[in-house]
Amino acid sequence: MRPTLTTLLLATTLMATGGSATAGDLAAAIEQDYKAHLADLFDYFHRNPELSMMEHNTAARLASELRDAGYEVTEGVGDTGLVAIMKNGPGPLVMMRADMDGLPVQEKSGLANASKAQQEDWDGNLVYVMHACGHDTHITGLVGTARRMAASRDEWSGTLMLIGQPAEERVGGAKIMMQDDIWDRFGKPDYAMAFHVNSNVPTGKLVAVVDSPYSGADTVDIIIHGIGAHGAYPHRGVDPVVLGSQIVLALQTVVSRTLPPRAAGVITVGSFHAGTKHNIISDRAHLQLTVRNDNFETRQILLGGIKRVAQNMGRVAGLPEDKLPEVIVSDEGVPPTINDMELTRRLRSVWSAALGEDIFHEEKRLGMGAEDFPFFTVDPYIPSTYFGVGGTPQADFDREKAGGAPVPSHHSPLFKVDAESSIRLGVEATVLGLKELLQE
Ligand SMILES: [Zn+2]
Ligand SMILES: [Zn+2]
Repeated sequence: MRPTLTTLLLATTLMATGGSATAGDLAAAIEQDYKAHLADLFDYFHRNPELSMMEHNTAARLASELRDAGYEVTEGVGDTGLVAIMKNGPGPLVMMRADMDGLPVQEKSGLANASKAQQEDWDGNLVYVMHACGHDTHITGLVGTARRMAASRDEWSGTLMLIGQPAEERVGGAKIMMQDDIWDRFGKPDYAMAFHVNSNVPTGKLVAVVDSPYSGADTVDIIIHGIGAHGAYPHRGVDPVVLGSQIVLALQTVVSRTLPPRAAGVITVGSFHAGTKHNIISDRAHLQLTVRNDNFETRQILLGGIKRVAQNMGRVAGLPEDKLPEVIVSDEGVPPTINDMELTRRLRSVWSAALGEDIFHEEKRLGMGAEDFPFFTVDPYIPSTYFGVGGTPQADFDREKAGGAPVPSHHSPLFKVDAESSIRLGVEATVLGLKELLQE
C-alpha cells in the first residue's frame, strides 16, 4: 500500500505521542517472544496436563509466569483458579479468561512432546492425562498476552484482569470461581473475552460470530419405577424396559414436533440402564440425557417436553400417579454462550483492519457443544466475545478430502493442533482486542 498523506500524518502523530505500534510490529514481537519463551512454556504445559480441579502444578506455573510479567496474582480462587491484575491508569476493567484443565485420555498423537502423564482421577483410578482439547494453547496464550500487554503499557489505559480457570471440561470451574465472589474481590469487568483453539478450522483464521458460539446444556435423569415380575408372567408387572424404550422414542418428537423448525435443540439419551437377568422383569430403569439449547425459550420447551412425555408414558403403561417416572434436571446446567452483538462487531472490525478482511472463517455452526464461560457473563451481564482460533493446517484438510487420514477431533487421543500458529494468532487477536477496549 502506498502511504497517503493521512496515513503519514497519522504515523507521525502516533510516533510523536509515543503511541501505537503497527500490526506488523505486534506480530513480529509475538513471534520473537514465542521463539524465546512461549514455545518452551507450551512444551511444559503439553507434557504436564492435569485433570479438572487438580490443576495444581499448572496453576502454580501460570501464576509464576504472570508474576514475572509484572502482574499481581491471587492463587486459590475457586480452588485451583487464579486471577492476575495489572492496573495501568484510568479506564475500563477488561477480563480475559483461559481454561487450564486436561482430559483423561491417553495421548497417541505421535508428537515429540506427547504427554505420558498419569494422575489419580476423581474415583481414585490411575488414568493417563492429555491436553486433548488444546487448553494448553489457551494458557500459553494467556502468558503471551500478559507479556505483550506489560511490554506496551504506554498503548493502553485501564485495568487488565487475566483469569486462569479450572475445570472447564467438567463445566463447573467458572461457576466455582464466581462462588468465590471474584467480582467483589477483584472488580467487575466492563468487558470479557476468551478464545478456544479449534481443530476444525484452518490455521491463520479466526471465528467470531455475532451470535451464539456455544449452546446451553442441561443434564437430565429419568428414573422409571416399574413393577417387577417373572419374565414369563409379564401381565403381573409393569416392564420399565418397554416403558423406557417408549419414552426414548417419544422424546424424539419433542425436538421434531414441538420446537419451531428454525430453533435449535438436541435431546440425546446417552445411557439406558435396567435389569439384571434374562428372565426377570426389572422394577427400575434409569435414563441419562443431555439436552442442548440456544436460548431460554427453547430450554423451557425441551425440559417441559421431557417431563410431559416421561410422565404421560408412565400413565399409558398403567402406573399409579405416585409411581410415575421421575424427571430430575440437574442444577449443573450451563446457559448458552452469547456473544454481545455490539462488542463483537467492534472487535471484528478491529481484527479485519489489522489482520485482513479474509481473517474470518465463516462457517455455520452444526453441533451444539457447550462451554462454562457464560457463568462469568450472564448474571450480572457483562458484554463478552468468545472467539475461535484455527488449529489445523489447511494441508491436513486437503489430505483428508483426498481420502487420507481424517483430522482428529477434540478429545481424541490423536488430537493435535499447530501450537505455534494457534498461540501466536490467539495472542495477536487478544492483544488487539484488549487495546481497543482498554482506552481512557
Ligand atoms: Zn473440551
Ligand atoms: Zn475445550
